[in-house]
Amino acid sequence: MTTEIYLDGNATSAILPAALAAAIDTMAQRFGNPSSTHSSGLQAKVTLDAARQRACRLLGVGEGKLMFNSGATEGIHSAVLSALCALRERRAGGEAVGSLLLYGATEHKAVPEALAHWNRVLGLQLQLQALPVDGDGRHDLAALAGLLDQTALLCTMAANNETGAISDLDGIEALLRARASRAYWLVDCVQALGKLDLNLAASRIDYAPFSGHKLYAPKGVGMLYVRAGAPFTPLLTGGGQEAGLRSGTENMAGIAALGAVLEALEQGGTFRSHAELEGYRSLLADSLGLALPGVVFNNNFALSLPTTLNFSVPGLASGDLMDVFDAAGVRVSSGSACSAKKAAPSYVLDAMGLPLWRSGGAIRMSFGPLVDGATIRTACERIARCGAALRSAGLIADQAPAEALDGVLQLGVDGACSWLLLDAASRSCVVLDPLPETAARIELYVRGQQLRVQAIVSTGAARHGELAAALGWHASGALACDRFGWPAHAGGQTVGLADGSAAECLQLGTQVLARVVRGEQCSYLLGPAGSTLAPSQVRFAFCAHAVGCALGPLIALTTLLCPSRDADNQFCTSLLAGAGAAAAGGECEAGPLAAFLQRHPDAVLVDVREAHEFAASAVTPGGLPVRSVPLSRFVAELEPWLAGQQRPLLLFCRSGNRSIKAVQCLRRLGYAQAWNLGGGLALAPRR
Ligand code: PLP
Repeated sequence: MTTEIYLDGNATSAILPAALAAAIDTMAQRFGNPSSTHSSGLQAKVTLDAARQRACRLLGVGEGKLMFNSGATEGIHSAVLSALCALRERRAGGEAVGSLLLYGATEHKAVPEALAHWNRVLGLQLQLQALPVDGDGRHDLAALAGLLDQTALLCTMAANNETGAISDLDGIEALLRARASRAYWLVDCVQALGKLDLNLAASRIDYAPFSGHKLYAPKGVGMLYVRAGAPFTPLLTGGGQEAGLRSGTENMAGIAALGAVLEALEQGGTFRSHAELEGYRSLLADSLGLALPGVVFNNNFALSLPTTLNFSVPGLASGDLMDVFDAAGVRVSSGSACSAKKAAPSYVLDAMGLPLWRSGGAIRMSFGPLVDGATIRTACERIARCGAALRSAGLIADQAPAEALDGVLQLGVDGACSWLLLDAASRSCVVLDPLPETAARIELYVRGQQLRVQAIVSTGAARHGELAAALGWHASGALACDRFGWPAHAGGQTVGLADGSAAECLQLGTQVLARVVRGEQCSYLLGPAGSTLAPSQVRFAFCAHAVGCALGPLIALTTLLCPSRDADNQFCTSLLAGAGAAAAGGECEAGPLAAFLQRHPDAVLVDVREAHEFAASAVTPGGLPVRSVPLSRFVAELEPWLAGQQRPLLLFCRSGNRSIKAVQCLRRLGYAQAWNLGGGLALAPRR
């Protein structure tokens, strides 16, 4: 079984063994309530006090307050509430407190959300404003100087969670002091704990929230520092715990665990030094450079935590990179919210002024200071494997194997798809309905493999201009064409169709692509080259919509109908399936693997993940041999399956979400012996 290499430390961390032991001991043996006055309570109080004292020493809390809470989001809310209540009072007393709630443009969302929330709830009508950052993600101090006189509350994180960019807190403090600013200052120290030296009481910082789970303590425990003399309004009142600052019985297991982490920090010897961590980051960066040509790093290593790398690869979406790393057992995160491979650009990288391809395709690799050399070495090996996998799939420039250059490729996005008709022998292709979302991928593939583009055609005249424009290389005007993109160089060559008409056609190796124009719609028929194309010879019919395509007399009942609009994720269908004649119902889920294989010992296991995920993956369900049929190639594979003897097929992917659609497609087309491995590789026994 492949061990997981966890490189997502900025999201959360594993638990330090000593922290786990402390939590278990607290729950099993020292479960008392620290507010109780009996011996059990006193024992718990000792644990609580010890953890607080350690935190105070380590963070230089001095005369300030340090309370335990549920984590940084709560700490941020407590701090913002406290500052805004104090501003309200000062304003009611006639003081001009400034009108701005100023926050770094790259702050964690908890900060602007908390500002907006309490500003609204308290009815203060202060103005939220983002403070710009430079290309390294550091606050623009000149802009800050210009805004400081109007600032009532300033929020600037110590280190960024996406890039690890370390803020110039000394520079900010110098400005605050120089202007004798009375603004409150909140510094989110979540990513700094254990990685940067902090001496809070010696600084001008009023509020500093921390979160346990970013440094080997469990989720649901955190701390908030409040400078001596800084105003404080409790978020939670009740039993008066935490000296009345934060009511609610303390999360003693979490606090004991956090105490153990703080002890390890204070005593030294557990965590790697800054220099060692920098060495590990260099190794990872070198491996990425070798494996992924053109990789660019989005963070300036000299000004970032040594535990964070943020990078983008030209032409590769963060979803593709996430998939290939996940398949290789390396857990990373996209630097941005990412749904269904449509990456929403990272607001952090956007704020740094990076171009869209970098902010939309970013990957964050982060580790904690407990990491060891063996983990980094394994990570480097797997990064190399990911690079090789992407190369073999033709996704990064290198010679892809011949089979990757032949056939029909489907690239789907949100109910629409683009098609690439490939011919290895002539190294040429036809692009059908390129969508703006798939244009970059198609361009990368075509350029990387140096394919000759014979035509960029569309099924709808109205959309052709927009779609072709999405492909930058077409805009050069290299291909003179009509309103569907049909190229002038086709030169009026025709092929006879079943209704007696002569259709214009293009030669694609030993295949011919004929087009059928009906008003503003155009369909394309692919079959063997010859003077005629009989219905039974038409292998694929590409059309805008499968329903009502009106190709009836020209194609066979079993010709695969490939629509460009695919709202129901059908991939493809046929006139037979469309009429419901071939629908094979019944249970699609295979159930437990072992039991399924006992019922179907001759089953073929089919991995429908993309070729780069398959190539990067070292595990299969039950360690059994599998065939790789990526979903993007699925339609092409259907033909031999449907024509041959129906052997039981067990389809799987990472989670079962992609394979179930493929199984449904097979069943609709009359292949009754297709099943899905529910839960996918993630839940299957693996080897
Ligand atoms: N601030 C930063 C910089 C973070 O990275 C996070 C967590 O992702 C938070 C705040 C929120 O922390 P918590 O999950 O403890 O509420």
